[in-house]
Amino acid sequence: MKSRWSIVARLTTLYTASAFAMLMLAAIFLHWTLAVNFRREDGQFLADKVQLLRTILGKTSADADDLKEEVEWETAALHFAKYYARVLDPQNHTLIETPGMSNDLPAAIFSVPSDTAYLENQVASRTLAHGQKFLLLSAMAKVANGNARQEIQVALDISPEEAFLQRYRRNLAWAVLFGVLFSAVTGAFVARRGMRPLVDLTQVTDRISASQLHERIASDGWPKELASLATGFDRMLDRLEDSFRRLSQFSGDLAHELRTPINNLRGEAGVALSQSRTPEEYRRTLESSLEEYARLTRLIDNLLFLARADSPAVDIARVRFDARKAVDAICEYYDALAEDRGVKISCEGQGDLHADPVLFRQVVSNLLSNALNHTPRGGQVLVSVCEHENHGLEVRVNDTGCGISSEHLPRIFDRLYRVDPARSQHPDGAGLGLSIVKSIMTLHDGSVEVQSELGKGSRFILKFPSA
Ligand code: ADP
Repeated sequence: MKSRWSIVARLTTLYTASAFAMLMLAAIFLHWTLAVNFRREDGQFLADKVQLLRTILGKTSADADDLKEEVEWETAALHFAKYYARVLDPQNHTLIETPGMSNDLPAAIFSVPSDTAYLENQVASRTLAHGQKFLLLSAMAKVANGNARQEIQVALDISPEEAFLQRYRRNLAWAVLFGVLFSAVTGAFVARRGMRPLVDLTQVTDRISASQLHERIASDGWPKELASLATGFDRMLDRLEDSFRRLSQFSGDLAHELRTPINNLRGEAGVALSQSRTPEEYRRTLESSLEEYARLTRLIDNLLFLARADSPAVDIARVRFDARKAVDAICEYYDALAEDRGVKISCEGQGDLHADPVLFRQVVSNLLSNALNHTPRGGQVLVSVCEHENHGLEVRVNDTGCGISSEHLPRIFDRLYRVDPARSQHPDGAGLGLSIVKSIMTLHDGSVEVQSELGKGSRFILKFPSA
């Protein structure tokens, strides 16, 4: 099962683990430097003592008192660390030694004496059976007035230092433990505080429902990373609110759109049935009903097309074809209607297109029929095809018609939206033509744009991406 750790728990754990690692490293380093320092100073102390004894033994004027003072009295004055010294003759007989030395430190436990001047490296450590720890050093010394060589053995009891280091280790362990506990508590506090905006965000998202889409997150004072999340969320709410508004507008428009033809049909049927009619009168009623049925069928077909185009699984059959040729064929189809309306249609430009030819025909037809419907007698409609190196192909439908005012421009691609709801200009339009154009362009990963000036004309631009 996947772990469900909260971010606060994760951050606190990571924070505590890294604090633990840091404190441990610091404690190990402190202990190591102290222990190394002790060892170096102790080694130096023993080497100094050996050098001192060598000097005393090498002096011609030296007498036994000098040696005694150094070996027997000096050690008695040391409180903290106990120091021992012994001098052996060439036959390994003890000449002099610190009182009590032979009990714990017999001559045999010292290693072979060294002649070198660098004595610090020769220091050895030894732990006795009862746990006392010593540093041992032995060295040769030349005796004055003769070639005889005597052996010096010195030892230092470092048990007090060891006990001190042990206490130090214990204190460091407590410091690490308290440090880790402290960092766990502060880590949890900091993480919880840092996560507070997320809690706020959750509360807002919990509150939001379809009827509360106007809610926004007040992200002032939030950290940068979360503020961008909140703004992204607010932008998503903007889009959702807009989509919901359009959707509810669409439902209203749809109900209205269906009610009118059905009312007409009911009215006509009611009038026809109100008294007995001649077969000719019934025929006319049925014929007029057929027109309404045809309009309803067109409306339903268009709505179905839009619903299908919205489905993410929809697939289009793209082929490569000559866009200019296709546009010419569509214009030819509309020639008779244009002539009837006294409007001139012309085409220009050229380019290849990778698209669904049936859907392409529908897009251009919708735009052309709109242009013809909104261009007065004597006007012109120009369809131009133009290939762009970077961004594919553009098809523009320009007219010199009535134009669209800026207040309607943002909404003309909405479903069932009509500039003139009374249909005084174009009675057959249900306000779906441009929505279909937009859907088809979206299916082709393209887009549609409009530029229009009231009284001067409109230009619809279809942008197809390069294949
Ligand atoms: P319809 O099928 O009712 O024409 P459309 O979706 O095609 O609906 O168009 C929406 C609205 O845009 C129409 O009501 C119309 O007023 C306006 N319109 C579309 N094309 C043009 C144009 N070329 N010139 C002026 N107005 C236009």
